[in-house]
Amino acid sequence: GADQPPVLVYENVRKMYGDFVALNGVSLQVNKGEVMCLIGPSGSGKSTLLRCTNALETLNGGRVLLDGVPLPTKESEVRKVRQRMGMVFQSFELFPHKTALDNVAMGPITVLGMPEAEARARAMKLLEKVGLASKAQNYPANLSGGQQQRVAIARALAMEPEVMLFDEPTSALDPETVGEVLNVMKKLAQEGMTMIVVTHEMSFAQRVANWVVVFENGAIMEEGPPAQIFDNPTVARTRDFLGHLG
Ligand code: ADP
Ligand code: MG
Repeated sequence: GADQPPVLVYENVRKMYGDFVALNGVSLQVNKGEVMCLIGPSGSGKSTLLRCTNALETLNGGRVLLDGVPLPTKESEVRKVRQRMGMVFQSFELFPHKTALDNVAMGPITVLGMPEAEARARAMKLLEKVGLASKAQNYPANLSGGQQQRVAIARALAMEPEVMLFDEPTSALDPETVGEVLNVMKKLAQEGMTMIVVTHEMSFAQRVANWVVVFENGAIMEEGPPAQIFDNPTVARTRDFLGHLG
């Protein structure tokens, strides 16, 4: 409700790699249940922002707050904070020698110390949720890219994160499997999951996001509700540009 702090707040976040400014003072916030889409050309700092969210990077300025509390720097505390965020990458990185079910059950077992039977029951529910109950015993090599990515989403959800961070989750997929992954993400959004999604899928951003942020050269070029962003002629040019990439 209105009395809760935003799930994530970025205050003037600055990140440098040597002399190169990857994020040049980014301020944003994400409220509970909101879907924020980050768009913009390659190299504009989108992944860096996610890495800063995850405390994978040390900031050169500003801060990131999760539920009103600045991200910790101590490794033991950082690990706990990371458990509250589900990450989904372009490359799904499932464990090849584990079944889909065991890939999903593994986090709860090894990280949360959940009994195996309970973890597998949770994993099975999540595979049902992403439409893969019938593939529970398949190994990743016997799943399509879209199916593997749905397993990766289930695996992230198994930790019951407060926020899901997606970094171009469909960019490595065959075109025919992109839709099934976007549909799972759309369903999560409708269920009220708080999400940050880096994507080149403009129609997803247009239909699912509450807030769209356009990055350029490590800064926010434009932000607003999708209706506003996608009417903007400058953004339309970016969209055309991105279209040429994809
Ligand atoms: P995007 O995700 O928008 O494509 P990134 O956040 O990955 O962009 O990268 C932003 C810029 O920072 C790019 O120019 C990239 O080359 C640079 N960069 C990213 N990570 C590193 C790193 N570890 N060391 C040096 N430069 C980096
Ligand atoms: Mg990136």
